[in-house]
Amino acid sequence: MLLVMKFGGTSLGDGARIGQAAALAHREIANGHQVVVVASAMSGVTNQLIAAAQLAARGDESLIAETRRRLFAQHIAAAQAVTPSREAQDRLIAQSDRQLTVFENLARSVHILGELTARGLDAVAALGESLCVPLVAQALRERGLAAEAIEATELIVTDDHFGNASPLMPETAAQARARLMPLVQGGTVAVVTGFMGATRGGVTTTLGRGGSDYSATILGAALDADEVWIWTDVNGVMTADPRIVPQARTLPEISYAEAAELSYFGAKVLHPKTLMPIASKNKPVRILNTFEPEHPGTRIVPQAANGGRGAVKGITAIKRLCILSLEGRGMGGVPGVAAKLFAAVARQSVSVMMIAQSSSELDICIVIEDDAAARAIAAIEQEFELERLRGDVDGVRAQRQVTIVAVVGAGLRATPGIAARVFGVLAERGINVISIAQGSSEYNLSLVVQDSDADESLRAIHQAFELEKV
Ligand code: ASP
Ligand code: MG
Repeated sequence: MLLVMKFGGTSLGDGARIGQAAALAHREIANGHQVVVVASAMSGVTNQLIAAAQLAARGDESLIAETRRRLFAQHIAAAQAVTPSREAQDRLIAQSDRQLTVFENLARSVHILGELTARGLDAVAALGESLCVPLVAQALRERGLAAEAIEATELIVTDDHFGNASPLMPETAAQARARLMPLVQGGTVAVVTGFMGATRGGVTTTLGRGGSDYSATILGAALDADEVWIWTDVNGVMTADPRIVPQARTLPEISYAEAAELSYFGAKVLHPKTLMPIASKNKPVRILNTFEPEHPGTRIVPQAANGGRGAVKGITAIKRLCILSLEGRGMGGVPGVAAKLFAAVARQSVSVMMIAQSSSELDICIVIEDDAAARAIAAIEQEFELERLRGDVDGVRAQRQVTIVAVVGAGLRATPGIAARVFGVLAERGINVISIAQGSSEYNLSLVVQDSDADESLRAIHQAFELEKV
């Protein structure tokens, strides 16, 4: 089998962990598989790079030298732990030094310009992965394998949505195959930087925070890999966040659609776009834990067996949101109100997470991030100024500090009474449901509650559907 194995930041947290990640790849190669590795930055690195650049843009260069020093020390220590060879250490250290000089130069120019563009930020943020892959490749060599560190800018061709780029798949597949398949066939492990790609013109882009998961499935699809294994720091996808619901357990198998719903709705195990490239491929994606490598984790497959019980697979929550409702007696039956509302928020680059409208059409509400509330309200009020003057629209009402709770499962479709049970248990606990939405795919029943009710809602629903039981 050809496996793409992605290791996240905590799985590469220091030299010892990088060694363990290499050992996990080695084990599968010893089992007769071919492996392509995708690596994130060492944990914390991306955040530090971004913080230094952002501060520099605000006129403060104090973090630049300090960040360089700190990251250099971290990567030197990792190099020394990864290999006993002085020669290899010196080579790795010189490489880190070069990457950090790039960082310093970029950050200094951000400081001079007093401006950090999305493009500039991508160039800085992607350096964390570039710093990491030589270490992972060396760790594989220490285990007797041939390995080569490769920049994904050579492989993944993206659009120019800096900060959140999407791959152009046909070109990516051609480049990735041409560059990687000879290595795979020759028995060399390619260690590819996660998180980044490049435009057709060769400018570095990133795939969004946490984007290395996405890199892994992009390459998995491009190479027609048999499986993609995402090595992280938890035992797969769980029925709920175990910090909130202590009884939460790992889901052994879920479908692409269920995994996508759960990751869009706040289960932070996977980058939300992870399943997109692989969706047409019918290949499993596994979520595994480097801290507990024998745990079977979660297998994400095109169509999950329902196991005979439980239409609900998991529940997630996104907190700190704001619900905005546009109300007015003159809105009913008027075409274009929703279009105007969405256009107004879209122009502010505010993403709408949930929508509800009663069929009387007298109010329409959207849920957005609380941080964006003021901007969105101003934009909507401006958009509907005329309607307000005419009295057709009353204005925008905002309810801050709310949470979307999403109840997810492919079986929601075929099982009547799920909504009744959800609302029943919340009512028993005196929790008020502010708004409700269910897409007609019926994979996801979303409801909005106050932030202060969120945790109890999750625990109540988890218990009502006995999600702790296998
Ligand atoms: N290093 C990147 C980030 O922190 C990508 C990743 O870890 O997946 O967002
Ligand atoms: Mg991650």
